[in-house]
Amino acid sequence: MTIGRLVLVGAFGIFLTGFGARAAQVGGDGASAPPAAAAAPETPNAGVETLEAGDGKYQITLNTTDAPDLTEWAKTKLAPVVVAWYPRIVKMLPSDGFEAPTKFSITFSPRYHGVAATGGTRIMCAPDWFRHNLDGEARGAVVHEMVHVVQQYGRARRNNPNATRPPGWLVEGIPDYIRWYLYEPQSHGADISPRRAARAKYDGSYRVSANFLNWVVNKYDKKIVAELNDVLRAGKYDENIWKERTGKTVQELGDEWHAGLPKPAALAATVDPASTVAKASTDAKVTASAQLAADAQSGADSAPNTLSDAQKQAGWKLLFDGKDTKGWHTFRRKDVRPGWVVKGGTLACVDPHNAGDICTDDKFGWFELQLDYNISHAGNSGIMYHVADVGRAVWETGPEFQLEDNTAAADKIRCGWLYALYQPPVDPKTGKILDATKPVGQWNHVRLLLTPEKCVHEINGIKYFEYVLNSPDFKARVAQCKFASMKNFAKFPTGYIALQGDHGQVAFRNIMVKPIEEK
Ligand SMILES: [Zn+2]
Repeated sequence: MTIGRLVLVGAFGIFLTGFGARAAQVGGDGASAPPAAAAAPETPNAGVETLEAGDGKYQITLNTTDAPDLTEWAKTKLAPVVVAWYPRIVKMLPSDGFEAPTKFSITFSPRYHGVAATGGTRIMCAPDWFRHNLDGEARGAVVHEMVHVVQQYGRARRNNPNATRPPGWLVEGIPDYIRWYLYEPQSHGADISPRRAARAKYDGSYRVSANFLNWVVNKYDKKIVAELNDVLRAGKYDENIWKERTGKTVQELGDEWHAGLPKPAALAATVDPASTVAKASTDAKVTASAQLAADAQSGADSAPNTLSDAQKQAGWKLLFDGKDTKGWHTFRRKDVRPGWVVKGGTLACVDPHNAGDICTDDKFGWFELQLDYNISHAGNSGIMYHVADVGRAVWETGPEFQLEDNTAAADKIRCGWLYALYQPPVDPKTGKILDATKPVGQWNHVRLLLTPEKCVHEINGIKYFEYVLNSPDFKARVAQCKFASMKNFAKFPTGYIALQGDHGQVAFRNIMVKPIEEK
């Protein structure tokens, strides 16, 4: 992702003061002192290192001061990639009279919660995401950001009011092309599986557009990426460039590319990193469970409310059979109030004034829950867990996975959040809080994982966040919100799973749970 301006000013103090110090060699142990002549009055900082690349032409500041546990990895694993690839990217993307930045910084700041983002010559990395991806996508993510440093597409518009705005799918597609097809082709990270092919669009951005660009490179024009970059940087991008260089419009190319994508085969099941559901999976990581979600989803399309043999073997149980409300009761009653009905294979709250919250008859401690929901305009519902037969409402005891129509519901707590306690990070692609929900009227897939080690919230295969139930952090958050006054909140180690039915219409299907035993 590239952003216009960074607001995390405070994070750069050390970087700025440390810049004058020409520090250790790439891959060095960091103990070597700066040359005596260097103007570096501050004490040496093990977390700041200046790398040299391109025979000294480029200086890159690597700052892990605020994430010291990443220093060793950054020096030994990331630095060599940075040093080797920045000059290469500069060479790949030339323009007459253009000089790529000779200095830029890579800062790991816990204040930043996305994956990585670039503003001008500052690359910001989220330590948490990197910690989880050190052996996987971490280095490639920095390669992607270095392409943004070289692009400098913002300059044209600053200097020329008539400059055309670069299309976002190319701004992100070009970095992902370089990353997936030139830096790490062996990872096949931008392959498009048959499952995703039907919905793939050439301008889908990130990996999908990278796949398209790679196809055009191989089929029509080896230099198309450099040429596109050149006109984008000059503020002169115009769709005619496709016709001029390939004889076809971008739409015609897109259609031809799409026609050649692998066709969906029945029950094809491959993990697909190029998910279009992920909107832009380079910066917003698609979790491995996206596959589980996709599997559940595809089951929904063919035979709703059933489990495959594999799912049964894995321990999944259906909480709703599509036929009746067996297994459910209204909170603190024996029956199910008439506002909840079974229709069309869904468990639906059709009359919120006469529904109330329903609970499973069984109690669950640690578990994984998956379900699909479909919410009405401005609707608001929720999934509570560890609900007990005390208090006047399920939320007095059970933490709530919020469900709502993000576009129109009044509640500022958005879909997928743990009510009043945890919310997803800002999505670097939009600058807004991550939102993977589909519009009202469509089915959304929820995954809630509850284990002693971590609890995870996902919507449509996109991980929102994780937390540890009743950890010091969890308790500190409880103490600061409305649940602080509810003495039984999150106090029960086991309880009902509840569905909220008093804030608008909502329907559920494919409600399945897999109990997890504590190790
Ligand atoms: Zn990007």
